[in-house]
Amino acid sequence: MDRLIQKIRNIPDFPKKGVAFKDITPLLQDASSFKRAILLLAEHYRNSKVSSLVSVESRGFILGAALAYELGVGFIPVRKPGKLPYKVERISYNLEYGEDTIEIHTDAIKKGDEILVFDDVIATGGTAQAICRLVEKLGGVVVGVCFLVELTYLKGRDKLKGYDIFSLIKLGK
Ligand code: AMP
Repeated sequence: MDRLIQKIRNIPDFPKKGVAFKDITPLLQDASSFKRAILLLAEHYRNSKVSSLVSVESRGFILGAALAYELGVGFIPVRKPGKLPYKVERISYNLEYGEDTIEIHTDAIKKGDEILVFDDVIATGGTAQAICRLVEKLGGVVVGVCFLVELTYLKGRDKLKGYDIFSLIKLGK
């Protein structure tokens, strides 16, 4: 695990002052770290009933698609407004400053589908919470919410009460 942690680069004050950005590109470009991260995440869900994995653009897509492939389940993209070509369901949610909106194809999830939600990093938890609500709007059941990195000091977990959460790497300040 230490090896994986070393592959996550801290960029102070990016994209704005006060944010310690966790850059996962060194992990992605190192073949063995990339593979190990996917296998460790997949291991956690090997015996779980998952029908599809949902992830959000853009960094979530990279590891999320690989994780779906490794688990042998379908991949469902959640995107920023105007990017998905078919009929969409959407949800808006509050950010630290302002608001954001995300969309999913209405036919991506059927009632009762068992959905695993993935994102690369959980910070405040707002994005993951919005994805879970979007999944539930379509009748899906969120069977797990997982992350490569959890920024524990931002307490994003508090927004995901009631969900089964797994993060591979927990980082403090
Ligand atoms: P959240 O605050 O949990 O809604 O995070 C919003 C999105 O921005 C997530 O998809 C994260 O991947 C990304 N994000 C937020 N904070 C960071 C950070 N410090 N380093 C890297 N990615 C971040």
